[in-house]
This record gives sequence, structure tokens and C-alpha cells, in this order.
Amino acid sequence: MPLYEYRCESCGEQEEKLEGFSAPTEHACEACGAPAGMKRQISRTAFNLAGGGWYAGGYSTAAPTPKADASPAPAAPKGCAGGCACHGGGN
Ligand SMILES: [Zn+2]
Repeated sequence: MPLYEYRCESCGEQEEKLEGFSAPTEHACEACGAPAGMKRQISRTAFNLAGGGWYAGGYSTAAPTPKADASPAPAAPKGCAGGCACHGGGN
């Protein structure tokens, strides 16, 4: 269950809640009484937890392949004879 961070747009009150994904993204603020003042923020805590495991488990172990070796120079499109928009790059 993700940890969500809420912040009141009316008074600035902040709180964190453990809620399901289907929970409403706003609710009344207990501090100032605004009916829907508390708006869900992107929770830094939950984001870091998910991101840490994600990066540690997968992407950091695979070194990126240099593109210079992998991809040949793009061929000229068929049907153009040069001097057209396809060849206007200055190369
Ligand atoms: Zn408030």
C-alpha cells in the first residue's frame, strides 16, 4: 500500500497517509476545515522506495551500448535524387 503525501491548498497543512490506489486524491483538511483542501502530492518517500529497488535490481547492471558502433549511417530515402528536403541537412 503506497504512502501518499497530502498538502492543504488552503492552509498549507501537510500529512502522510497509507492508502490504496483507489482512495480519493483529495479530502477535507482537519486543520482549517476546507472541504477538499487536502490534495494528494507525489510522495517522495514512496517514489524513492520504488525507484531504489527498480534501479538496483535492473538497469545499473546493464551497461548502455554505444550507439556509434551499433547503428550504421542512415541510408538516403529511395526516390529522392539529392538536393531535396531529404538531403538538405548540410552533409
Ligand atoms: Zn487546511
